[in-house]
Amino acid sequence: MTDDAWPHPVAVVPREPVEGKCPECGGGHLERYPVLSDGGWYMSVKCQECLCSVERVPWNRLGYIMLPEDVIL
Ligand SMILES: [Zn+2]
Repeated sequence: MTDDAWPHPVAVVPREPVEGKCPECGGGHLERYPVLSDGGWYMSVKCQECLCSVERVPWNRLGYIMLPEDVIL
């Protein structure tokens, strides 16, 4: 068995459960995670049942790559 037998995840996306209800389908399964969309990366809250975006705010310009000036120490 070699390492090649394993899938190589590009990145592990930490998904964070969010309290609330989907305005589209009324489902209660919301999660917050980064998505790449027009204009760059957004931290999005999406309904996991109908996949509509409940909330979307601009995230790191390069996604998973943190620029030094973007990190608040
Ligand atoms: Zn929904």
